[in-house]
This record gives sequence, structure tokens and C-alpha cells, in this order.
Amino acid sequence: MDTDVIVIGGGLSGLALADHLQRAGIAYRLLEARARFGGRIKVASVGEAGFDLGPSWFWPGQPHMAAMVKRFGLTVFDQHSEGTLCYEDEAGVIHRDLGFSSMEGSYRIQGGMSALIDRLVASLDRQNIMTDAVVKTVHDKAGVTVELQSGEIIKGKRVILAMPPRVAANLTYQPELPVAAMNAMRSVPTWMGGQAKFVATYDRPFWREKGLSGDAMSRHEPLMEIHDATDPKTGLGALFGFVGTSAGARQRQGEAIKTAAIEQLGRIFGQQALSPEKVFYQDWAEQIETASDLDLRPVAGHPAYGLPNALSDLWEKRLRMGSTEVATQFGGFLEGALEVAEHLAQDLIADR
Ligand SMILES: Cc1cc2nc3c(=O)[nH]c(=O)nc-3n(C[C@H](O)[C@H](O)[C@H](O)COP(=O)(O)OP(=O)(O)OC[C@H]3O[C@@H](n4cnc5c(N)ncnc54)[C@H](O)[C@@H]3O)c2cc1C
Repeated sequence: MDTDVIVIGGGLSGLALADHLQRAGIAYRLLEARARFGGRIKVASVGEAGFDLGPSWFWPGQPHMAAMVKRFGLTVFDQHSEGTLCYEDEAGVIHRDLGFSSMEGSYRIQGGMSALIDRLVASLDRQNIMTDAVVKTVHDKAGVTVELQSGEIIKGKRVILAMPPRVAANLTYQPELPVAAMNAMRSVPTWMGGQAKFVATYDRPFWREKGLSGDAMSRHEPLMEIHDATDPKTGLGALFGFVGTSAGARQRQGEAIKTAAIEQLGRIFGQQALSPEKVFYQDWAEQIETASDLDLRPVAGHPAYGLPNALSDLWEKRLRMGSTEVATQFGGFLEGALEVAEHLAQDLIADR
């Protein structure tokens, strides 16, 4: 036996679980497919400034996030909300007199959300965590055995799938999981898995000088919802937008979407927006470690998350689900990733 618990996935939930296990003295190995940790948390850096290409916000009333930023001494600030919201209507007319901020009360983290990941990774024993470790097969044999794409085999007593259930459905299980379990995995939408984000940076947040908050809603493509993403430490201005073009229609259209997004920012925020210093574009639907083909279909609203019954007792609990999508209270959110990690850790510690 190489270890007690094998954690597959080095996003926030997997890393937070590893952190709990390490502090409880339980042996673990964490295997991450990508060359970086963080999963859906990813930041584009410009000097000291960080711009979120995945999650940007957490909110009051999210106790695990509050505790984690406190523990790591991270600097939290309010989403910029002063000024008016713009609206681009169906006819392309821009309304700049809408006096509310759609994300007022949301919190951001200085340097971007990857500050959380960097601190978590730094707190873990480096020899237990591995990047470029693509898991292909999980066997229920002599405890559990995990096989990597590289051919490496790792044996443990239990395995946690800290990845979106639809992505977990693409692994091979030996023996095969019941049909109901596979269907349940595929039925859980990956939160924001079908989304793409666009960021444009400027020398300063010039829209604020015009009394605009940086928030905008649009009935035109490509960006449907835009917010201020300015880095408060460096003062580097930034606007980010969620791309409204469907995941299917976006395929291989990255360059065209970037050009159209800059034009749209120009229409909404004026001439200066046409000359960003840098632009970043991240299409999460194209990432096989985040989204499955099923996530290309748009999701209506926030799904009701939680652990489906069919996934609650796999291989007598030697195999468990562990991403934010199975959180009962805050499923889909960063808070949900921490909620799941804590619950799993409590169970694993109790079973020790
Ligand atoms: C564009 C966008 C905006 C968002 N905005 C917000 C927000 O503002 N606030 C908020 O609370 N939440 C937001 N979210 C959701 C938030 O990102 C997630 O709740 C959180 O990051 C999920 O963490 P996780 O560890 O559960 O899953 P993931 O981050 O998906 O981690 C899963 C990990 O498993 C790895 N993996 C996959 N397959 C394998 C394999 N075969 N072998 C090994 N490893 C594998 C992946 O590479 C990944 O690192 C947003 C998400 C996106 C995409």
C-alpha cells in the first residue's frame, strides 16, 4: 500500500482535503492532471497584478472561505460598485443611466483567487502532491489502485474523485460502476464548465472617471455580462466579461471573439476601451479536465447540487465523490469545494 487516501484532482476541493488529511496525520497522495494546481481557479498575471480567468468572488455568509482567507492572511477587498451600470439593448443602443451595481457586496482577493491555491500548495508536503498526473483507471483491487496515463500505479485504501462528476464519468472503473451511478455522474452539470471569460487590461480604470462602475449587461454578443476587474494594488484597470456566445458556437473562434469583445467594450465604455494593454481569453468548455461534452449545453440557473444517492456508496465507500458539485449547501461555489473537503475529511478521520 503506497498511501491511505488517493485524492484525484488538485483544484480547491482536492487541495483543501489534502490539507485536512495532512493536519490529521493521514497519509495521502494527490494527483493533478494539469501542469498546474487550481483547476477552475486560474489567474492571468501582469507584473504584480492578477486577473481571474475563473472565479473572482466570494460572498458574506460563506464561513469556510472567510476562515481560509483569515488563516492565510490574504487581503480581501470589495468588488468595485460605485458608478452606474450600462445596458446594451437588442437594438445596440447603450443606456448609461442605470444606477445600480449588480455585484455590490461581493469580495475579491488581492492578486486573484490563485492566492488561495498558492498558500494551500505551500502548506502541503511537496512529495505527496503531483502535477501532470493524468488518472485513467481506478480499480477496486487490494484496497484501491489508480493507474496513470504514464503507466504508474498507486495503491491506497480509499480514493476521492475531487473533479467534476461529468469529468469523473470519463475515467475507467474496474469493476464497472452500476449504470445508475454512471448516469448520476453524467447528470450533474459542471458549474460554469460551459463558460468562457474575457479580460482586457488598461493603464487605469478610465470608466470610473466617467461615473461608470464597469458593470454592463448586453443583449449583444460576445459579452453578456461585464464587470470591473481592476487590480487595487497596482491600479491597473481591467474589465472582464462572461462570453454569451454558446460553447458550441465558440469552438475555434477565440481570436474572432477577442476582436468582437474589444469592439463591444468600445461601444459601451467609449474610445479608450478600444486600446487595451493586454487581453486574456479562457474557454473552460474546451478543457477536458473541467468540462465534458454534456457541459456544452447551457444550464438554466444554478442547479440543485448535492451528492446523488446513486453515488453515495460506491465500492463500500472506498470510492467517493469530492468536488464542489456534491456540496449540499454551497454546491458549485468555492465555498462548496471547502464544504465538501471538510465533510470528507471528517468521515475519513472518523473511519481511520
Ligand atoms: C468562469 C468561472 C467563473 C466562476 N466564478 C465563481 C465565483 O465568482 N465564485 C465562486 O464561488 N465560484 C465560481 N466558479 C466556480 C469555482 O471555480 C468552483 O466552485 C471551484 O473552483 C471548484 O473547485 P473543485 O476543486 O471542486 O473543482 P476543479 O477546480 O474543477 O478541480 C478539479 C481538478 O481535477 C483535475 N482533474 C480532472 N481530471 C483529472 C484526471 N483524469 N486526473 C487527475 N486530475 C484530474 C482538474 O485538472 C482540476 O484541477 C467559477 C467557475 C468558472 C469556470
